[in-house]
Amino acid sequence: MTTLMNYVGGQWLRPTASEAIDVTNPATGEVLASAPLSTNADVRRAVDAALRALPAWRRTPPGERIQPLFRLKTLLDTHFADITRLITDECGKTIGESEGELRRGIENVEVATGIPSLMMGSNVEDIASGIDELMIRQPVGVVGVITPFNFPGMIPLWFLPYAVACGNTVVLKPSEKTPLTMARVVDVIQEAGFPPGVINLVHGGREAVDAMLDDPDIRAISFVGSTPVARHVYARAAANGKRVQCQGGAKNPVVVLPDADMDMTTRIVADSAFGCAGQRCLASSVVITVADAAATFTPRIADAAASRKVGYGLDAGTEMGPVITADSRTRIEGLIAKGISDGARAIVDGRAANVAGFERGHFLKPTVLGNVDPASELARTEVFGPVLSVMSAETVDHAIEMVNRSAYGNMACLFTSSGAAARQFRYEARVGNIGINVGVAAPMAYFPFSGWKESFFGDLHAQGRDAIDFYTEKKVVVERWPATWSRKF
Ligand code: NAD
Repeated sequence: MTTLMNYVGGQWLRPTASEAIDVTNPATGEVLASAPLSTNADVRRAVDAALRALPAWRRTPPGERIQPLFRLKTLLDTHFADITRLITDECGKTIGESEGELRRGIENVEVATGIPSLMMGSNVEDIASGIDELMIRQPVGVVGVITPFNFPGMIPLWFLPYAVACGNTVVLKPSEKTPLTMARVVDVIQEAGFPPGVINLVHGGREAVDAMLDDPDIRAISFVGSTPVARHVYARAAANGKRVQCQGGAKNPVVVLPDADMDMTTRIVADSAFGCAGQRCLASSVVITVADAAATFTPRIADAAASRKVGYGLDAGTEMGPVITADSRTRIEGLIAKGISDGARAIVDGRAANVAGFERGHFLKPTVLGNVDPASELARTEVFGPVLSVMSAETVDHAIEMVNRSAYGNMACLFTSSGAAARQFRYEARVGNIGINVGVAAPMAYFPFSGWKESFFGDLHAQGRDAIDFYTEKKVVVERWPATWSRKF
């Protein structure tokens, strides 16, 4: 079995860590590799390498810094098939989902190649007579990137391309549950010709994260994961004086009005709720039907859930794979049971799922629960599994009030043919991503990945112009060069 290595200063290094965890294919139960849980010392080695690489990389003109990014984009296309297969192997999602994920990751590499113009500063002549003022952008320094299990290909690419294009160097720690994809991508990064130490990879869990948060030479942290960990990372990194952005968990509501196109709505909501087995921070988790929309929507979504083909992500025709671990399945089944004991009705019950030939897989089938009490634990907790809770509201105002009561604020969708209702929803819903007659996937790379309330801690988001602001320090220079001073020429 492969024991993963860290990538430090342009070389694969065996960490000093004595502990490791198995990386398991969630569909087959096969152990794919052993991921070391790097120690403080391992993290420090990577930070040292990133620090050593920083002065020369920072002085490399932006137009040259993006050349390895162009090569990375081409190489990711070339190795697309093997990387996406690896995503499915370690994460369980269908191969189509893995392809979509990596494509969205590559899009960030493409956008980051625009850095020479994106990171331009600004200036104004004569802010006072003969005095000019300008703003220039400089890299922040060494950046730490910490990512979750559910998008092992895309999420690191929300950060790495922008960070390095802006002249920073990076220490990346992917999820210990799905570390293989980035180990493979780092091979590709090496082939793309980034100088040694510009991008470093450290495998590990909590100890490695805390070492990164406490290391004085890491100047900024980009984190994506669950809300409790996001809160911890935000507080500890900020207390240590770092710039920090933390994307957290979610509980995303969908509002369905009676005038919606119900067939289209059902298709989209089913994809949004059950895609990636519900393990997306933008997955629909709650449906609020308004007035008599329940009568037409609920039977349709029940059919869509019951007929979704669950299985091995590499098999043709599979529409939904397993959840990530046995613990995760147990937790999700527990939440369904609690919901039912709190009064919900199981319209489609996906527990005790069995996929022939994959008895060691962590499968659940899509689940739809009706009559869910908005105050119940099920209605308020992030499930992160293929479970949709259906509740009802009398009016659009009432539905928006229910949306805004959530502690989270990652995403909300509305399905309607009424422009007025759509505008009201867009205007009043307190979430960072809105879908009108669409489910929300991650925003395109030139838009920020927003998130409000308990779904985000920080000020500047990932992607787009926010990324440039996050990965650069602004320096303002005021200059006076009096014309009366002697001229030598
Ligand atoms: P997680 O919080 O368990 O882990 C995220 C990262 O934090 C991993 O690298 C992990 O090693 C590290 N970590 C875990 N526990 C830690 C601790 N106690 N101290 C320090 N570090 C720790 O998240 P996950 O289960 O890998 O991913 C799923 C979660 O991520 C869900 O809540 C989901 O909503 C969220 N997510 C959010 C977004 C977004 O953009 N808002 C995107 C994807 C996933």
